[in-house]
Amino acid sequence: MSAFKLLLLPGDGIGPEISAEAEKVLAFLETAGIAKFDIERGLVGGAAYDVHGVAISEGDMKLAQASDAVLLAAVGGPKWDGVPYDVRPEAGLLRLRKDLGLFANLRPAICYPALAEASSLKRELVDNLDIMIVRELTGGVYFGEPKEIIDLGNGQKRGVDTQVYETYEIERIGRVAFELARKRNNKVTSSEKANVMKSGLLWREVITALHKREYADVQLEHMLADALGMQLVRWPKQFDVIVTDNLFGDMLSDVASMLTGSLGMLPSASLGAADNKGQRKAMYEPVHGSAPDIAGKGIANPIAMIGSLGMAMRYSFNLPKAADAIEAAISAVLAQGMRTADIKGEAAQSVSTSEMGNAIVAQLKKLLA
Ligand code: NAD
Repeated sequence: MSAFKLLLLPGDGIGPEISAEAEKVLAFLETAGIAKFDIERGLVGGAAYDVHGVAISEGDMKLAQASDAVLLAAVGGPKWDGVPYDVRPEAGLLRLRKDLGLFANLRPAICYPALAEASSLKRELVDNLDIMIVRELTGGVYFGEPKEIIDLGNGQKRGVDTQVYETYEIERIGRVAFELARKRNNKVTSSEKANVMKSGLLWREVITALHKREYADVQLEHMLADALGMQLVRWPKQFDVIVTDNLFGDMLSDVASMLTGSLGMLPSASLGAADNKGQRKAMYEPVHGSAPDIAGKGIANPIAMIGSLGMAMRYSFNLPKAADAIEAAISAVLAQGMRTADIKGEAAQSVSTSEMGNAIVAQLKKLLA
């Protein structure tokens, strides 16, 4: 049985509650003989600040570096609103992303048929939707220099951000997208603003050349980012894998997330460069935050967290059957009408965090029996 090292960072707010449900899934997969998981537990965000005075300790960073994958729940909350900027809860996330070199952010937008009514679009547009947005995470306008506000001395100021991409950054994110497409529906839509931005022009050139050189078997289309925003809400099922830069990816992935209903449903993965064995540093986390408004009530939806664990099975542990089973188990409990409060809709009753986790494990037992 393969063994994997997993660092679990429950973080703040509802983090520990949803982490407990992910641990049930891990325990079941181990009992079922799928794989062995050596789980280390660490602190991140406010929880780390309370103990160590920083948003993540050096010891936990070492564990993250040594693990096959990091599974993080959520950070933040009003308790830490006043802490110094460089040790605020989010600084823990940024440190993990930076030190692990996580340049590729993967956000699937999957619409389970049972939840199509929760989408802001009509059922026929989103039923069985399954798209993957690949966002460049460590470059572009959020990091480019100069980045400043200059006093022009005449009562005016100038704010400057710099959008900058180099060939290698575009190539490596392009590779992630093409590789993913090969395992899905074999189509990549690359998005930028080549009509008005030099960095967009380079992005298009580099993706086109990479495609021709190494991925000619994958269908490639280019779409301007504004047009893509429009198409996402007009006819989202035309897309398979979308690859785009940090800024456009930030916005487009949020738009796509609303196609699927609730924040409590959305997983994500952030991947680093592949080493010589093809292994990547990786962190998996729900898209949502620590939901302080419902923390401690036992009503948080654990699906985004369990879905994030499912992504770890696929992208870090090479256990596609376990990943498929987790997705199928989530789909099955939803089809049975099981709902946490956030996705309750017209349902008569909602279940607790642990009831939802238990139901998913029970389905997994059936699927992997
Ligand atoms: P949030 O995502 O925590 O919550 C937004 C709304 O969605 C809330 O009403 C919440 O109850 C609900 N919600 C979120 N996840 C849910 C789940 N799993 N089940 C049921 N309902 C869920 O965003 P926010 O309220 O803007 O931020 C709260 C804190 O989280 C802040 O401190 C913020 O900085 C932080 N945050 C952290 C992350 C992260 O850890 N990656 C992301 C976003 C926000």
